[in-house]
Amino acid sequence: MKDKTKLIVVTGAGGFIGGSFVAALRDRGYTSIRAVDIKPIGDWYQEFGDVENLCLDLNLKENCELAAKGAYEIYNFAANMGGMGFIEHNKALCMLSVLINTHMLQAAMKNSVERFFYASSACVYNGDKQKTFEAPSLKEEDAYPAMAEDGYGWEKLFSERMCRHFREDYGLRTRVARFHNVYGPWGTWFGGREKAPAAICRKVIEAKETGKHEIEIWGTGVQTRSFMYIDDCVKGIDLIMDSEILEPINLGSSEAVTINQLVDLAEEFAGIKLKRKYDLSAPKGVNGRNSDNALIQKYLNWEPSTTLRSGLEKTYRWIYGQFLARERGDARLVRE
Ligand code: NAD
Repeated sequence: MKDKTKLIVVTGAGGFIGGSFVAALRDRGYTSIRAVDIKPIGDWYQEFGDVENLCLDLNLKENCELAAKGAYEIYNFAANMGGMGFIEHNKALCMLSVLINTHMLQAAMKNSVERFFYASSACVYNGDKQKTFEAPSLKEEDAYPAMAEDGYGWEKLFSERMCRHFREDYGLRTRVARFHNVYGPWGTWFGGREKAPAAICRKVIEAKETGKHEIEIWGTGVQTRSFMYIDDCVKGIDLIMDSEILEPINLGSSEAVTINQLVDLAEEFAGIKLKRKYDLSAPKGVNGRNSDNALIQKYLNWEPSTTLRSGLEKTYRWIYGQFLARERGDARLVRE
């Protein structure tokens, strides 16, 4: 049984996964939570009055020390990230997130933190293994020989290794999960950093609302991916943090779909059919990618299991609500 009064620090808490993780901690009865993000607190996706909310730039070492002070566990979700459109055009910015994790690890050491979680990504995998459209299932060993996604993926791979060396050399208990495309309510759905599921839901909603029944799809539409619903992600983080899994492990759904199938589902929820226009010059990432879940099954006898249909329907309805609120001039709906 965990002591739910000990201080849990969540960085990147103003964003999608960090905010959802704080919400889940509260739901499970944790009473001492520190949430940290660089964004002004009013801009956080989810914001809770009974949590210690700090606005800090974690690129800076002294701020990481403030964030980590007295922490029992740290979950580091803070990073510069977004969908392909963002990471292809912001490689230096994505690589600079190395400062956040490095300084957070040092601050964790200084504070004798019990455990440290790092949010890595499927973007660490070798690009050569993702050239076919047949949704190759990526095993953990497929990150090497290293040829990660330029910028964002290299930073994740480097920071994974930094976690490993802090564990091996200094005894800090680090845990690392490689998330595969996470989606769900309270995620980014407009503005340029949104990922495919949210972007497609939004485009379908825009088409429905404007009556202009067309959609622009990045790439050929036959690229394959898997998408993990946020509730599975939050549960997986918890299980991995409490486990003795020392090496980075996949945390993703193994239900692979094409981007066209993703559009099919969103159209079905909207009750419309759209003319599809494919933008072959847009950023589209690797051709195929899926999560091989043999290792997580072996260790935890568990894997993400929310179907894309059920998770995407909830996400579609949530984005629809946000879209209508924005149309009414109510710029954001924050869960408080
Ligand atoms: P997000 O962009 O919604 O949240 C990240 C948060 O980090 C943002 O709120 C941002 O303001 C904050 N941040 C950035 N720089 C900071 C700084 N210098 N100091 C303090 N806070 C800072 O992204 P997310 O989807 O919630 O992702 C969380 C983590 O999971 C990230 O590390 C991301 O790379 C990783 N990840 C996410 C996915 C996904 O599909 N969402 C997939 C793989 C990995």
